[in-house]
Amino acid sequence: MRGMLADLLDLLLPRACARCAGAVHGTDVFCARCVTAIPRIAAGGCPLCQVAIASAQPCCAACAHDRLPLAQVAAEAPFAGEIARWVHAFKYPSEGLAGFDPRPAAALAALVADAARRLTGEPPVLVAPVPMHPRKRRERGFHPAGELARTVAAALGAPVERRALQQLRSTASQTGLDRHARRRNVRGAFEANARLRGVACVALVDDVVTTGATLTECARALRRAGVRRVVAVCAARTL
Ligand SMILES: [Zn+2]
Ligand SMILES: [Zn+2]
Repeated sequence: MRGMLADLLDLLLPRACARCAGAVHGTDVFCARCVTAIPRIAAGGCPLCQVAIASAQPCCAACAHDRLPLAQVAAEAPFAGEIARWVHAFKYPSEGLAGFDPRPAAALAALVADAARRLTGEPPVLVAPVPMHPRKRRERGFHPAGELARTVAAALGAPVERRALQQLRSTASQTGLDRHARRRNVRGAFEANARLRGVACVALVDDVVTTGATLTECARALRRAGVRRVVAVCAARTL
């Protein structure tokens, strides 16, 4: 419902930059000035956590040690400042008309599409949003990762598979938990669809990657189900 109203408002409102409300070209989300002003994560870092690495290294020492079930985690912007405010406005829209402001969703969609273009190697053939427990989804009224997955699918030219993963149990919020507590909190919480066996590459989608505990657990479930390669695409990450 919120998606439909946002789309409708989008049609009624004049096209303007989602960041400064200035004029934009065609269906662009940001004006030319804002596109370059938005903070972005530098290219060429560790393909999993994006810290700077020597060019000869395939990934950083910490990620090599962790032996993650993910081949790559692409994120576009540092989770801070205005990006963090967009994420919050997108995930927790305020009551009343302000909650229908389409700009935070448009801004994050633009970022996640740019993140998808950072993927290298074998292209994903399916796009899977990080699932949300049905109870939480009912409370929230929409599924933020599901919305972003549609954008990633369009950017990659691959379909969204909403039933790729399901959350088996409700987990406590990851907010405020340290790395180890986050891992424990989501361990065994997801199950992948058995029909994904043999799929060459799946792209997981989430709004923000923090420690990567949720993405790792989802990727583990997909790999257990027989998916050969899993990558992830996120609008932002904590650095
Ligand atoms: Zn602008
Ligand atoms: Zn790393």
